[in-house]
Amino acid sequence: MKSSSRAQSVSLLDKSLLKTFPKVELHRHLEGMFSLKHLFELSRKNNLDTPEAFADFKKEVQFPKDSGPDFLLFLSKFKRYWYRSFDDIDYLVYHSVLNLKEEGLIYLELRFAPEHFAEYNDFDRIEVVKTVINAADRAAKEINLPINYLLTYNRMFQTAEQMIEQHKKIDKLEIPSIVGIDLAGDEVNYAPELYIPFFDYIKGLNKYKIDIHAGEITGPDQVWSAIEKLHADRIGHGISAIKDTKLLEYLKKNDIYLCQCITSNFQTGSWVDSPSHPLNDLYKMGYPVCINSDDPSVQDADLTDDYLKCVEYFDFSAEDFYKLNINAINASFISENEKRILISKFDKEYKVFLEKLK
Ligand SMILES: [Zn+2]
Repeated sequence: MKSSSRAQSVSLLDKSLLKTFPKVELHRHLEGMFSLKHLFELSRKNNLDTPEAFADFKKEVQFPKDSGPDFLLFLSKFKRYWYRSFDDIDYLVYHSVLNLKEEGLIYLELRFAPEHFAEYNDFDRIEVVKTVINAADRAAKEINLPINYLLTYNRMFQTAEQMIEQHKKIDKLEIPSIVGIDLAGDEVNYAPELYIPFFDYIKGLNKYKIDIHAGEITGPDQVWSAIEKLHADRIGHGISAIKDTKLLEYLKKNDIYLCQCITSNFQTGSWVDSPSHPLNDLYKMGYPVCINSDDPSVQDADLTDDYLKCVEYFDFSAEDFYKLNINAINASFISENEKRILISKFDKEYKVFLEKLK
């Protein structure tokens, strides 16, 4: 058995094969997965001060493959000046979501920050939300990929009171595919306590699940705060939880999943290197984790690249990926009935994949 599992691991190192593994993803930012071809075309159309050659343009918007960790360089790749109209937003979002066809996804929870699209032109945030979801839904339908959305609120750009004010308007849209609210941004300088009023308000609405970026570059105390003070149902990254066994046991007991992002954590310097990424130990010790890409086009590494790292560094098999995707389904913000339907779809596609390994 050992040798056949070894042979399987070797064949899983074939990226074109691993791309077809049926995947469920919960932690991916729309602003970090733009189709670079279309972003380039948009920047040309709007006469932006960006490089004229596509190869140079890519260098401007992607983290260099040969670079060591660099948090500020990583952040500098997220620019917000691309759009001059709602049509620009529609164009970029639609084509970026169409590109997902290549990634083997069978269900995605996609997050976006209305502020990202609105801020430069002071666009109406409500119209931004409608435009983004309309464009993404059209593309998702074409590629037959079920998508739900999380709205990202950024610690650096709004106070809790401003978040509440904005969300009251968005909430009136009654968009059922907005299943969750995310808190992102600078964890170090903006303490979770600042956002208690906003997440008390969200919790009180009883409509949305809560996903908090925590313990990415801060310690396990911020994961505790995200859970105890901000009502987190799920944690973005949470890699520092590995230092706190009591926390890990709490996460396991309460089904609070840590959405892990190997490439992102290396590039931002959140974790020292990919081969020692905590995902491996957390998974093997039975704690609740799943695999996610975070910002694939900025990282110049897609979701399958993170799967490849799991094979290369942790010797994960197809069965491991099966379990990690069942974790993702359990961690998703869909209903219990929808989860059952998704598991049976996943089971079918997994069997098809296993046939390819024979
Ligand atoms: Zn993230």
